[in-house]
Amino acid sequence: MDQQTVQSSRFGKSTVFFKGKQLFKPLPQKIFWLVGCAMFYTNIAIARENIQVSTNKNLLHWKMTWCWTLPCRNERDIEYGVIQARNLGFNAMEWSQAQAEFPETFVAVCRKHKMESYYCINPASEIKQQLLPAEDNFPVSSQAGGEPPDPDIGKVISHKRRRPCFNQEDARRNAKAVVDKAIKLGFDGIALDFVGYDNLHGCYCASCCKARRDYIASHPGMAAKEAENRFAEECIVKYYASVVAYAKAVKPAVKTTCHIYPAFMPDILYGNLLPVDYCGQTVAWFFKPHWKFEKIKKYSEIVVRDENKYHAHSIGTPFIGFYCGGGYAKDRKTAERMRQEIRIIKDAGAKGIQIVELGHILADKAVSRVLAEELDGSPETIKCINVPQMSK
Ligand SMILES: [Zn+2]
Repeated sequence: MDQQTVQSSRFGKSTVFFKGKQLFKPLPQKIFWLVGCAMFYTNIAIARENIQVSTNKNLLHWKMTWCWTLPCRNERDIEYGVIQARNLGFNAMEWSQAQAEFPETFVAVCRKHKMESYYCINPASEIKQQLLPAEDNFPVSSQAGGEPPDPDIGKVISHKRRRPCFNQEDARRNAKAVVDKAIKLGFDGIALDFVGYDNLHGCYCASCCKARRDYIASHPGMAAKEAENRFAEECIVKYYASVVAYAKAVKPAVKTTCHIYPAFMPDILYGNLLPVDYCGQTVAWFFKPHWKFEKIKKYSEIVVRDENKYHAHSIGTPFIGFYCGGGYAKDRKTAERMRQEIRIIKDAGAKGIQIVELGHILADKAVSRVLAEELDGSPETIKCINVPQMSK
């Protein structure tokens, strides 16, 4: 599965890797025995990592899911998705296809089921991001915009197309137009995504290069590399700040959230700089190798500890990824791992959480049950969930 396919699956209708395949068929009995053995060894692996989690700490009150694979053909599909998200315990939701095709229906169904609705905003500009010349031959990260397994800068998220440069006047103008639209449609909030760099550290288009030179020149006491990274980070923060300030000016009650993506390698957990109400920072990404529990604990604690370092109203919301279909079957996390990841987040004292992707979660009944149990949903409804056919 190449990275471009990953990205096109997030927002487009062309989830090519599913191709309408029946992903989950009834399993023969003996498979359950094998699954049992696998779970036994997984538990041993968890014990070996020696993470102690309590089972009674739970401050979570804002619980968001993102959706981009459930079918979305009519009001019935939308009702199904929203109700199941509610059964899993979520109370906030973004659904790319629903906002594109049936936004009023999505808002109305969310309101009916006491689910906050979020309109996703991705940067849009005539100017595309540019890599450094040497990066044209860099490998594509196996983590699809997540943190590469090693800490080195030296990966790109794709070579097939460049994302828009968000450090442009038209990018801010376009985002504000989307904010107007979302508020007019009655969405409870906006959710920013894809505000990051193709090479995980900076844009080298002509205008960014000029602005970077000016920045370095105006910071003579700062090492050039440090100034370069600070400039890149400030570009991200400025984009968020302009969009969030505009949204709050138009409608003070509108809520703001984000999913930090692609990762920014010079300062991975920079989310506390962003003036959003609920800041989604990755603490456990989708793909193998699954992150060690120690790392999930460390990241979760930082996300929570630093949530008000710069913005008193912000709530740090650790973000967990779960994929299990098509080309990602090999990346499926066990239900027990999902429980452990959520409990680590609860133990960190998080008041909010984000878990994606809804269609993949619902396709795994054991994982769905764990979420319903851990997020105070309705575990008894999970047995009635029909495995959804993912959108093509
Ligand atoms: Zn640029």
